[in-house]
Amino acid sequence: MFGPPGSGKGTYASRLNEALHLPHISTGDLVRQEIKDGTEIGKEIEDYSKRGLLVPDDTINELLKKRISQPDCSSGFILDGFPRTIPQANALERIAAISVVINLVVPDQIIIERLSARLTCKSCGTIYNRLFLKPKVEGICDKCGGQLYTRDDDKPEVIQERLNTYRKQTQPLLAYYRQRGLIENVHNDEAGTPPEKILKEILKIIKARK
Ligand SMILES: [Zn+2]
Repeated sequence: MFGPPGSGKGTYASRLNEALHLPHISTGDLVRQEIKDGTEIGKEIEDYSKRGLLVPDDTINELLKKRISQPDCSSGFILDGFPRTIPQANALERIAAISVVINLVVPDQIIIERLSARLTCKSCGTIYNRLFLKPKVEGICDKCGGQLYTRDDDKPEVIQERLNTYRKQTQPLLAYYRQRGLIENVHNDEAGTPPEKILKEILKIIKARK
């Protein structure tokens, strides 16, 4: 699953997991699990982040290889948030065959509209949205009565910056997969498109590729 931040790729990946009964693998989750379990790799990763360094590709590849070799991945898996760079894509090619790359195409304006409508509770961290997940009382958390605010990350100018970085980073990667004939674009041009409609389109593509 490919898509800019705020395109809903994590949501679609977990919906696909329910529909296809294939494991949803997020490298972010794998990393968090290792840290939680206190494994050797987990300690290594913690050390990198303490020093403000990025976790090296080799470490991530090793985690991914371990995860993909589990029996539940034998008929396939859904990858979300990986690869992000050409060296990672090369490494992935050595671990497993990718059958399709679903590329969610969402205009910046829609992502900005959606993400900048997010509100976060100052006390408990629950996330709301002014467009489709409103709190019962404006500005107040339903769960704990805390105050809701817009995180710096969710300010339009910061979102635009993140989108620019994403495009710059993924362009070579999309070219890499386009060359291999694996890219399928799924457009989501309207803020109001129901997720079910997008999911149906993705499932149709996957079925046709089988
Ligand atoms: Zn709260």
